[in-house]
Amino acid sequence: MSETRTFQAQTNKLLDLMIHSIYAHKDVFLRELISNASDAIGKVKFLALTDTDLLEGDGDFKIKLVPNAEAHTLTILDNGVGMTYDEVIEHIGTIARSGAEAFADKIKAAGPDAATPDLIGQFGVGFYSAFMVAKKVVLETCKAKGDHAVRWESTGDGEYTIERLDKTRRGTRITLYLRDKDAPVEDGDDDEETIFNADNWTDSWKIRSTVKKYSDFIAFPIAMDTKKWETEKDDDGNKVEGAESKEITVEETLNSSKALWTRQPSTIESDDHKAFYKHLTRGWDDPSEIIHFHTEGAQEWTALLYVPGKAPFDLFSRDPRRGLQLFIKRVFIADDVKELIPEHLRFLKGLVDSSDLPLNMSRETVQHDRLVMAIKKRLTNKVMSHFKDLLEKDREKFVKLWDEFGTCLKEGFHYEPAGKDKLADIVLVRTTHNEGWSTLAEVVERKQAGQTALYYLTGEKLETLQSAPQLEVFRKRNIEVMLLPEAVDEIMVGALEKYQDLELKSAAKGELDGLPETEEETKAKEVRSESFAALTDRLTKILDSSCKQVRVSERLTDSAVCLVSDSAGMSPQMERMMQSMGQSMPVQKRILEINPEHGLIIAMRDLAAKDSSDDRLGEFGEMLFDQALLAEGAPLKNPARFAQRIASAMTFAVGH
Ligand code: ADP
Repeated sequence: MSETRTFQAQTNKLLDLMIHSIYAHKDVFLRELISNASDAIGKVKFLALTDTDLLEGDGDFKIKLVPNAEAHTLTILDNGVGMTYDEVIEHIGTIARSGAEAFADKIKAAGPDAATPDLIGQFGVGFYSAFMVAKKVVLETCKAKGDHAVRWESTGDGEYTIERLDKTRRGTRITLYLRDKDAPVEDGDDDEETIFNADNWTDSWKIRSTVKKYSDFIAFPIAMDTKKWETEKDDDGNKVEGAESKEITVEETLNSSKALWTRQPSTIESDDHKAFYKHLTRGWDDPSEIIHFHTEGAQEWTALLYVPGKAPFDLFSRDPRRGLQLFIKRVFIADDVKELIPEHLRFLKGLVDSSDLPLNMSRETVQHDRLVMAIKKRLTNKVMSHFKDLLEKDREKFVKLWDEFGTCLKEGFHYEPAGKDKLADIVLVRTTHNEGWSTLAEVVERKQAGQTALYYLTGEKLETLQSAPQLEVFRKRNIEVMLLPEAVDEIMVGALEKYQDLELKSAAKGELDGLPETEEETKAKEVRSESFAALTDRLTKILDSSCKQVRVSERLTDSAVCLVSDSAGMSPQMERMMQSMGQSMPVQKRILEINPEHGLIIAMRDLAAKDSSDDRLGEFGEMLFDQALLAEGAPLKNPARFAQRIASAMTFAVGH
């Protein structure tokens, strides 16, 4: 009894996109189906390590491609683990990848033009890519040691039928009923362009070259029957006189099956890496860095890692695909093993092949395995020193990598505090002194005589930071300040505390100690704060509910006011970050600093000296506080009132 079911809504959307958007890359369908077949064989091979019955006597693992020009079909067969009825519904009727929904939404928001191959490649299109070349797909499968087989069929237009059959031999057979030659497929345009001409997918040359291109590394043989003319030969290999040539069928293995990572790094061509990377990620882009090494001695393992050219769309989503593939003695064990790399290196793609881990390792045992932890540690060090080398030898390339993954790398200050010094060596920052990126070491090199701290300013936007009033004194003294506009920067400065013996200090926190200062300057400071005492006392009272204190500033030269935190206080960025993570935070009051050289402040000082209860001081005090908020790009409590006050001050100024 067959049953008809409908695809999930997003599946339909994805199918539609597939058929209409990425026809230029339609040959990937073969790669996808071969990958699935190989995964299925890998699974049964792995399970059979502990349960040989699963093989049911068939341990000759193979993927077979059967083109049939007359029937216009291409069949992909494997003797992998197969699927049960429920599994087919679960895996084939829905989209397994968690990103698919996000993808469909993204495309919906951005319009169909956004469905570029690059973007689609990030999601992996899997089984559905079959519909790029097929008008009908029939999947027949039988689970290892299963008691039934399943037949699934669909024309990719919203529905599929599925039925339970008698048990067959283990594995999966996928038959593609290829689209007719020259049959135009509606692509939405009026021009009757033929976007599919899949005829040659029964052509053995085409199949052979596509397998070579995308699937050469598949660990199991990919076989195809080919016809050959043969003439009878004698024992010495000479043609037999008068013998006629006859056509015979031979099974040809199309792939070399050689695990790339087992080869000497120097013998691997860059094209091999590109192809292997595409095979691993099932994408279209090329890797930007290759990290390939082998360790011997106490532990023997190999890692082959790639840095993608571009950050994946889901790098910062809650549940991105991450982790490496794990092989044990060339046997595939698991995908996405996140125990092998730290969180902040989650953008790396690749694999680890260990000779020392036990073959019965499972996802659960991986979590607590000490050897796995040791691999992770060593691998992290290797990657960090690779990045450091790159920074030293090819700055431009490193900057590109930093642009894509710098934010993610900085999360290491949180996840791997033990590695913070190594990480600090490759961190790039923007500063007041340099247009481009600087390393922390470069900022240290440019320090002024007598400077004992490294200064930074955190905030939300680079542009706001560049014109922050808190920087004025630093500009005047030509002291460089690092401008840190990302949320993760707060974590970085918090974890780092010091770089090369220089303490990291916020330019907007506490008193400005650590700046070189002469004795005269120190004296002048004291005198000044005396003469402003009446004003600062009054303003402190007026602004009691919004700030902790009003004091004379050492950092301002042009602006009238700015807000700073206590040296132990939390910055407003940190506060906002904690709040966005759902932590309730008591509002931290900050300190309002006033510029003793600013005309307005001097006038207010004189006003306060005459009559410290003058009403205008109250009004102006509140306006000054709002100004300080505005300069940070922060919202005002009551913007309308501020606007009214400005308007009346302006009216007064023009003399009405
Ligand atoms: P992905 O391979 O990314 O998970 P696919 O759409 O290609 O996505 O496949 C979905 C699932 O269907 C696979 O994860 C696997 O469980 C199952 N599957 C696909 N092809 C096969 C096959 N040849 N043998 C067994 N299971 C398969």
